[in-house]
Amino acid sequence: MRKKLVAGNWKMHGSVVENKALLDALVAALGQADAAACIVCAPFPYLAQVQSVLSGTGLAWGAQNMSQYAKGAYTGEVSAPMLLDFGCSHVIVGHSERRALYGEDDAAVAAKFAAALAAGLTPILCVGETLDERQAGVTETVIGRQLDAVLAVSGIGGMGRAVVAYEPVWAIGTGKTASPEQAQAVHAFIRDRLAVLDKAVAAALVIQYGGSVKAANAAELFSQPDIDGGLIGGASLVADEFIAICRAA
Ligand code: PGA
Repeated sequence: MRKKLVAGNWKMHGSVVENKALLDALVAALGQADAAACIVCAPFPYLAQVQSVLSGTGLAWGAQNMSQYAKGAYTGEVSAPMLLDFGCSHVIVGHSERRALYGEDDAAVAAKFAAALAAGLTPILCVGETLDERQAGVTETVIGRQLDAVLAVSGIGGMGRAVVAYEPVWAIGTGKTASPEQAQAVHAFIRDRLAVLDKAVAAALVIQYGGSVKAANAAELFSQPDIDGGLIGGASLVADEFIAICRAA
């Protein structure tokens, strides 16, 4: 039986004051929850603050990106060992905003995924098609390619230590959620594709849905057989919304 996982992706939002209020509310409502069923992925400068508030609670935390390199002359980059230094357990890799706005291609995402695993972090690998790709009928081709790039470097064994987030690009921050049936179909495609390589890994893999998840639609999405929780952007910044989504899982 897979355990559902809800992860907040704060993106480039927050301040010391806002974070404190949000984190305190999460701890009050969810702090006794089952360990790490609910995590927040904060901007790098706030990881120390998140660590200090969430340490010793049932909540875990992570980052939204990382370098594929462990150290060196890479101005402006942050490595996996640095994230570990601040208690991160998870790191998002290959978010569509990183792919589209910062030119991260499949090879770069695969390298980051491997570096996260090597450091002992759990990568949350984002995959998903654009609206053009969906309309052209190539959703499965695109997601297959994104998965294959990672499998080529880390193998199915690597996938066994990761989380996958299916995030249709057209549903991110747009208020347009994939219907539970649309999302379920892609989640089943991902699981079936990995099952060809290793049935046990595929059956145990947590596959989150992301894209305009809110308190009002979370329970229906999470009730689908292959949807194991969510990666939450906008709604993760609103305490009551995020708490309700975590409870829906
Ligand atoms: P959203 O973002 O929930 O604001 O649509 C999801 C994401 O980008 O991870």
